[in-house]
Amino acid sequence: MRSKVTVFLNFIFALFCSGYSQTLNRGSIPVKVPLQCTGLSYIPRSVWRARPEKPTIINLRIPIPHVFIHHTSSETCYDVESCSSTIRKIQMDHQQTKHDIGYHFLIGGDGQIYEGRVWHYRGFIVDNYNTKSISIAFIGDYTDDIPSENMIAATRNLLRCLSEKNYIKQEFEVHGHRDAESTFCPGDKLYQQIQTWPEYRLID
Ligand SMILES: [Zn+2]
Repeated sequence: MRSKVTVFLNFIFALFCSGYSQTLNRGSIPVKVPLQCTGLSYIPRSVWRARPEKPTIINLRIPIPHVFIHHTSSETCYDVESCSSTIRKIQMDHQQTKHDIGYHFLIGGDGQIYEGRVWHYRGFIVDNYNTKSISIAFIGDYTDDIPSENMIAATRNLLRCLSEKNYIKQEFEVHGHRDAESTFCPGDKLYQQIQTWPEYRLID
């Protein structure tokens, strides 16, 4: 038999959840929602020692239809220490003009997923798509280098999780940054790779 306390706690929980989904849908006050899926782990901001976000943060509307793939045009990194240092530099650079690092996730040469900006916060990296996309950046330069299999596997796993949670649309589309803007990003070799993915689409 359920006690009155349990019923009350369930009520509070339901209240919290409904408020939370409204918050995400309204695209207003940010409430950080961690990404949690079975079989997915990532390095959180606290581990790479992110600086706090500056105002003003806006939520993306869920589910998100587009995913953009980037490269950082920097050195590759192969462990948490060096990847963290690279990501801190990118954040510092982006925070000179924006409130936080532009990428929602970064993929290290170590095959680890690093949390960038909180996954449901609006970015500023792809003109015309910032309100409807998530950005994932491969750390390194993939003009001539081929991204490693563990980097690809990590990204595929991340996409599976985002789609499983309905955070991105079931029929989400993957693009390279160059599909939307005049840029070499994400590098020829990484661009060739993502074009083989079933979700890859050219932008109309
Ligand atoms: Zn890019």
